[in-house]
Amino acid sequence: MPDKSKIGYRPTWAEVNLNNLGHNFKQVKSLLQPQTKVLVTVKADAYGHGLVPVSQRLVESGVDYLGVASIDEGIKLRKARIKIPILVMGLTLKRDLHSLFTFNLTPTICDCESAVALNRKASALKKPMRLHIKVDTGMGRIGVAHEDAFDLIRKIHKLKFIVIEGIFTHFPFADSNRKFTVFQIRLFNKLVSELKKCGIVIPLVHAANSVGLIDYRDSHFTMVRPGLVIYGLRPKPGLRVNLKPVLSLKTRVIFVKQVPVGYGISYGHAYITKRLTNIVTLPIGYGDGYPRNLSNIAPLLISGRRFYVSGRVCMDQIMADVGKLKPRLADEVVLIGKQGKEEITTEELADLAGTIPYEITCGLGSRIPRIYIS
Ligand SMILES: *Cc1c(COP(=O)(O)O)cnc(C)c1O
Repeated sequence: MPDKSKIGYRPTWAEVNLNNLGHNFKQVKSLLQPQTKVLVTVKADAYGHGLVPVSQRLVESGVDYLGVASIDEGIKLRKARIKIPILVMGLTLKRDLHSLFTFNLTPTICDCESAVALNRKASALKKPMRLHIKVDTGMGRIGVAHEDAFDLIRKIHKLKFIVIEGIFTHFPFADSNRKFTVFQIRLFNKLVSELKKCGIVIPLVHAANSVGLIDYRDSHFTMVRPGLVIYGLRPKPGLRVNLKPVLSLKTRVIFVKQVPVGYGISYGHAYITKRLTNIVTLPIGYGDGYPRNLSNIAPLLISGRRFYVSGRVCMDQIMADVGKLKPRLADEVVLIGKQGKEEITTEELADLAGTIPYEITCGLGSRIPRIYIS
C-alpha cells in the first residue's frame, strides 16, 4: 500500500504493473515472425500509464522503436536517457524541424516542402536525416494520398541528405470492417512493390495497430505498431491473445454515514436511497478524469463485493450506497482492477461511460499519482 510520501495526502492512486506490461509485450512478440520489428506507441503519457517508466520497461523487453505524438514527448524520453529510435508520428511545423536533429527524433513526413527543408538543414550539419513517410490509404487524417505517394517518395528519395527509413499507413476500422482493411493492405502493398521495382527499398514498412497485428497477419510487413494491447487492454471483445491489464485505479473510504430511506445523494439528487443504508464517500471525481457519465452506473469494489456509484460524480468526490456493509475509514476501494474474486476492467467502465478504453486511461489526470510495480 503506497504511503503518503508516495501519493500525498489524498489516498487515490493508480497502480501500474510493469511486469504485466512485459508479459503483454512478450505475448505480442509471440504472434510475430522473429524478424518483424515492434514499435510501441507511448504517446499521451503511454496512454496514461506514465511515459518514462513504461518506455524504460519496453526498452528492457527489447522493443525496437517508440512512437510519440510530438517532439515534446520525444524530448521527455531523450531527457530520461532513452537511446532507441523514436518516431514522432504526428506532424511537425516547419519552424520546429531543426529540433528533430537536436534530440535525434525521426519525423513523419507527408509533403515535399518539409523534406526539402530537412534536407537543407541536414546538409548544413553534414548529418543525414532519416524519416518515415505517412501514406493515407483511407484514414483521412495526415498522410499523402496513396495516388500521390509514389511521385512524392521518388522526389524525396533524390534528396542527398535524406534517408527514407520507413513508410506507413493507418487503419480506421481494423476492428469492424474486414473488407476495407484488406483493401487498404492491398493498396499499401502495391505502393511498396512499385517502389521496389524502381529501386527504392524502404526498410521499415508498417501498418498494423493492435487489431491489425492480431487479426491481419498480412498487415505485419517489417514492423508493427501496437499500443492498446501492450497495456493489456482489448480494442474489441474476443481477441485471441492472453493479456494482463497493466493499470488499476484505487482509493480509500474517506467518510461513511448512515442515512434514512428517501435520502437524496449528490447534485440533483439523481440517487434516492430505497432503505436505511450506509453511504460511503470516496476522494475521486471528474476532476481526475473519472467520467461524470458514470454517475449512478459505475461499479466499484469494497470488501471484495461489487457496489455502484450512487448519484452524480462530483469534481473531487463520489458516493456509493453500500447497504448494510459498514466499511471502516481508509478501507481500500477498487475502481479499476481486482479485489478478492471480483474484477472491474477498463473496458467495462469504458462501455458504461459510452467511450473506449483508450479515453479512460489517457483521461486519468495528473492529480492521480502512478505507483509502479515491478
Ligand atoms: C496510437 C497509434 C497506434 C496504436 O494503436 P492501438 O489501437 O493502440 O494499437 C498505431 N499507429 C498510430 C499512427 C497511432 O497513432
